[in-house]
Amino acid sequence: MKSTLKPTPPRTEARRWQAVLNRDASLDGTFVFGVSSTGIFCRPSCPAKRPRRKNINFFDHALQAEQAGYRACLRCRPKAVDGNPQSALVRAMCRYIEQHVEDRLTLSLLAKEFRLSPFHLQRTFKSVLGVSPKAYTDAIRLRQVKHNLQAGHNVTTALYAAGYGSSSRLYERTATQLGMTPEKYRRGAVAAVVRYTIASSPLGRMLIAATDKGICSIQFADKVAGNFAGNDEQLQQGLMREFPFATRRRDDAALAEWRLNLTRLMEGGETNPSLPLDIRATAFQRRVWEALQRIPRGETRSYSAIAKKIGMPKATRAVARACAANPVAVAIPCHRVVREDGDLGGYRWGIERKEHLLALEKKAGA
Ligand SMILES: [Zn+2]
Repeated sequence: MKSTLKPTPPRTEARRWQAVLNRDASLDGTFVFGVSSTGIFCRPSCPAKRPRRKNINFFDHALQAEQAGYRACLRCRPKAVDGNPQSALVRAMCRYIEQHVEDRLTLSLLAKEFRLSPFHLQRTFKSVLGVSPKAYTDAIRLRQVKHNLQAGHNVTTALYAAGYGSSSRLYERTATQLGMTPEKYRRGAVAAVVRYTIASSPLGRMLIAATDKGICSIQFADKVAGNFAGNDEQLQQGLMREFPFATRRRDDAALAEWRLNLTRLMEGGETNPSLPLDIRATAFQRRVWEALQRIPRGETRSYSAIAKKIGMPKATRAVARACAANPVAVAIPCHRVVREDGDLGGYRWGIERKEHLLALEKKAGA
């Protein structure tokens, strides 16, 4: 996931001084500097002439500079939104909301997370952004819903993944915000083109689908009559369910290279880092899936180990659910997650396939 958090504030005075010399606006809001010869304090990007190093004192925020007797510079206004320590806090809150939009985000939960009283948090947020945390959360959720619907997800999935749960009240509110029902919005959304191929693999019939951004689905057919042959029609229907409004085009030639790459991967070969994925996920799923991609080939991890790895040791069951929801078999190696006791646990494409895949990887590693 892309993080838009601002850079770490310079820890040493030397780095702060360098930022002042460079008029580094990216560090505005992380500190201010007071000039003892003038009694004025500025943000790093202030356009005024640079003072001498020996006349400068650094402060973490404007309040400290004021307490030390400095006045705010009228040119760079170090107390205005960007230079305001409160705005850094509110930026952090915004990032938090964006990354946890699928959770129930209440004011008290946010307050706990940021160690503020709900009242103080609400007031700070509004003073900087002009809207309440709730209004901001709604806006982010709506953006997420639109994105999900445009991607062709069904309405329930789209709303759920945006943190709306299954409440019909929320459905109606979304309809008001969209100006139409989510269903209608989705139909009207520009349908993506999804190309796909179906081919044999070491694990049976496999469907690979891709948008122009990357692979969006890798599925295996059910076993038929005790072998991995499966049937192609079932795979096509699965794709239709997954992307009901996309234009689906079979294109064996366009996907031939990815098919080879995946087959090599299944046989335990080198992971191709250039395998681009275009998958929709909640922030939580994305964290789980990224952790899975870091499990070395030929090794396994337990569900609880993954939960610990992503810093949520109690989320073992949620990790298992995220594994089960993996839209791209093999490319995101959910087959490398097993139960604590060494039991293989479940696998969306059949436990025998998981076993087979792990055996192939082990063999290749040996
Ligand atoms: Zn200034």
